[in-house]
Amino acid sequence: MVGTDVDKAVDCLNEGLLVAIPTETVYGLAANAFDANAVTGIYKAKNRPQFNPLIIHTNSIERLLNWGLQLPEKMLLLAKHFSPGPITFVIPKSDTIPDIVTAGTHAVAVRIPDHPLTLELLAKIDYPLAAPSANPSGFVSPTNAWHVHEQMGDKVAYILNGGVSRVGVESTIISFLNDTPKLLRYGGISIEQIRSVIGEVEDIPAHSGEQILTDNPVAPGQLARHYATKHQLIHGDPKKYFQYFASDRIAIIAFSSIYAEIPARLQKVLSPERNLDAAAQQLFAVMREIDTWDIDVILAEKFPDEGLGRAINDRLKRASLKD
Ligand code: AMP
Ligand code: MG
Repeated sequence: MVGTDVDKAVDCLNEGLLVAIPTETVYGLAANAFDANAVTGIYKAKNRPQFNPLIIHTNSIERLLNWGLQLPEKMLLLAKHFSPGPITFVIPKSDTIPDIVTAGTHAVAVRIPDHPLTLELLAKIDYPLAAPSANPSGFVSPTNAWHVHEQMGDKVAYILNGGVSRVGVESTIISFLNDTPKLLRYGGISIEQIRSVIGEVEDIPAHSGEQILTDNPVAPGQLARHYATKHQLIHGDPKKYFQYFASDRIAIIAFSSIYAEIPARLQKVLSPERNLDAAAQQLFAVMREIDTWDIDVILAEKFPDEGLGRAINDRLKRASLKD
């Protein structure tokens, strides 16, 4: 069920079954992207709305060309710098890609993940893998094999165990459908890094106060409420909310601070050294752990809006939204 046998994972995928795969971002729920039945299984297992398209994964740019995809020059430039890595490119689709993968749209999202076991697996198959995060739709993404086993263990034929995900948040998604490349999701590669390679990039619109996110994921790529914990999560300055809850019923997710008003055992500091990459790697595992505690609310700080801090704030903001 859980193991490190790449050939077993290949056999399962060849049979049209679902396999959980490790990546540097989060664990994926993978199926043969060219097998529409197998891909349907992903939507079912996750209870994912059929209008939310999937990212396809492979191990080289050359293979994308072989599958009839046209690759924009700026995408190639970014791929040269950051692939394999936590960046996903949205480009015009080719006929080889089944409509179910792209939720009927004319664009496909492609990524080369950076994990040795999964790269080995991808080299052994002659199709790309459609793979969203290996969690039920709307919940926190898994960053180790055990997270997958807990939530999706009965839905997959095999879980390939590649240890703890190094980046810990999903890939950055960038669209090449218009003249100016456009960011669709903050993730493991920062907008600063992207701009240093290709110059102008359209940012995700900044939101002041309540964030307004689309419910049509095909437009800017994302569902609003996502990454949800069972407990209510509030994203903002924790101190502002202390007065509303008993101090021993509050859990805190902080960057580096400790709050004297709250018992230390109820506080998770993501990076005492204030390293945003280290904080991102911890985020989802900490959200999962806190969610098992006997508390009333999770108060999560707002992180610096730079580098991976943007991805952290994005995930916390989405976790805080109501259904
Ligand atoms: P997940 O793999 O669960 O992180 O979700 C994949 C994300 O990629 C979703 O938010 C999708 O909306 C986005 N995505 C996948 N394919 C496309 C596409 N063709 N166009 C725009 N966004 C996409
Ligand atoms: Mg997901």
